[in-house]
Amino acid sequence: MNADNFAVTPLGRTALDFSGRDRTLRTVSRVLVVAASLAIGASIVYATGGTGYAYPYIILLPVILTAAWFGLVPTVLSAVIAGLLLGPYMPQDVGRGLMQSPQNWLARISFFVLIAVFTSWLFHSLRTSNQRHLRDLQVDRETGLPNQAALREDLHRVLSAGRSRQPVSGTPAVILVRLQDLWEVMEAMGAQTADKVVRSLADQISVAIPREHHVYRFSTSELLLLFFGASREEVDSVANAVRSAGENEAEIDGIPLRVQLVAGSYFVETGVIAPDSVVNRARTALYAAIDSNGFYRSYDPMFDQKTAERVRLISSVRKGLRENEFSLFYQPKICLKSGRHMGGEGLLRWFSSDGSMVLPGLFMPKLENTTLIDPVTRFVIRKACEDIKQHDLLRVSINFSAKNLMDSALVQSLGRIVSLYGVEPEKLEIEITEGALIRDPAHAKVAVESLRNQGFLVSLDDFGTGYSSFQYLAHLPLSGLKIDRAFVSSLNESSHARTVLSSMIRMAHALNLHVTVEGVETEEQHQIVLEYGADTAQGFYYAKPLPVPDYINWKCGPNVDTVSS
Ligand code: C2E
Ligand code: CA
Ligand code: CA
Repeated sequence: MNADNFAVTPLGRTALDFSGRDRTLRTVSRVLVVAASLAIGASIVYATGGTGYAYPYIILLPVILTAAWFGLVPTVLSAVIAGLLLGPYMPQDVGRGLMQSPQNWLARISFFVLIAVFTSWLFHSLRTSNQRHLRDLQVDRETGLPNQAALREDLHRVLSAGRSRQPVSGTPAVILVRLQDLWEVMEAMGAQTADKVVRSLADQISVAIPREHHVYRFSTSELLLLFFGASREEVDSVANAVRSAGENEAEIDGIPLRVQLVAGSYFVETGVIAPDSVVNRARTALYAAIDSNGFYRSYDPMFDQKTAERVRLISSVRKGLRENEFSLFYQPKICLKSGRHMGGEGLLRWFSSDGSMVLPGLFMPKLENTTLIDPVTRFVIRKACEDIKQHDLLRVSINFSAKNLMDSALVQSLGRIVSLYGVEPEKLEIEITEGALIRDPAHAKVAVESLRNQGFLVSLDDFGTGYSSFQYLAHLPLSGLKIDRAFVSSLNESSHARTVLSSMIRMAHALNLHVTVEGVETEEQHQIVLEYGADTAQGFYYAKPLPVPDYINWKCGPNVDTVSS
């Protein structure tokens, strides 16, 4: 990458000279101030009696001002003018009409020039060290990219230019890119490696964007692309290039690494808008991309409303957790061969302060991409362990969201957590969804392996609704498969559905997977799944999810007919 792309004040070096007129005005007024001070200085010297008295050096003030505002040549020039003003025509003693000798005023001019050279050098050094300091403040030390401070300054300039006149065609725009799992790289391989990943991504992006636009490191795991003027097509195509960059594995210290990216963009509309709001809107679009499980979204005012809802939901869930409004219901699972109760699935229920029960479908999908999923899952783990211990429950299955599975800290410590409650890992089964596997297959595999090594059973939930193939499943150390209820609901009507279900069960068995069929609602469906050889069934036909007291008193009903009985 061209290091030039990352100059600290990029706007100063581009064709976008927004402040040319302001600069000329400032220069003219400074020249006038210097000229006026020279005239005033000379007048004071004359009025106070001439160069033989106390004030001749007052005329050095405009020389010092020139050094502060301009370079060496103008300063020397102003020193010579000052020397001449106090030169041949300025008396040494006005009262006595005594003139100076040429040596006298020539020596003064030389002295003034010396002062001019010295003060110019002094101000030049001060300016350079100040600029260096400013540059240090605006550069991310770890990657050498311009940082948030540089962005703030550039955005401010872009926005104020937009208010007066448009310097380039198109609209100013930003794309915020987040490296979703950078912290995991950081945990596993250290901050330096994570910084290299960021730099390598920035390098790839900067190849894809036109030179006049810039890439900033906005935060540890976020890059921001600033377009001084661009069309929607241009920005969308850069977003596509970012996506491709994310799909490439970067070789860092000899190790191929890939991080998951998500991005949001915002086109700066006309009207007054603060730099912070520009970034916030791009962030809102980024959240919308996360919500829709996508890679990229462009800001839409509708998102703000959704964000507000999300913030409200998060705060009420947080309050719900604090005030014990959550509880775990259990839905029994039946061993089809023996007809016996062989465990249950723990399903979250929220009894909100108005007494109504909220089903997880209403809040879990919105929570899954927030950090709150962690305390919610930890609550489920704790409650399941407490209930297992207190009521001597049979095996309990709990649901892990994609984010939980990617949370190495949670995955690796699960064995330790359950042992704190005195629960054996075999007593717990973790249900994961296909979505979690698809997002990052390599990482998901490591997580599943870790859970299995700690002694937990791991089942793939909602099988058939996603994209997993059996070939893919063969490479995962799963213990079981839960066939989604969509395959069960159509069993009665369609022979095609029956063929699909029976082949699914056979193939899963061929892979040594324990097969659970969910959503069994009728006697007929029960008979079919029994006939096809599924191992376990779950559904309203046997029982709905039950609160703990009902669950522990629940007995397999007489309507459960089995092969063996
Ligand atoms: P899931 O894991 O597939 O759970 C099964 C869902 O199907 C439950 O809905 C259950 O009540 C429902 N169900 C069971 N048998 C039948 C049936 O015969 N017919 C029909 N129509 N439905 C049946 P629920 O409890 O509303 O949970 C919905 C989803 O919310 C769950 O789907 C799961 O994805 C999620 N969820 C629930 N609890 C948790 C949790 O603790 N953590 C996470 N991450 N997700 C959870
Ligand atoms: Ca489940
Ligand atoms: Ca399911």
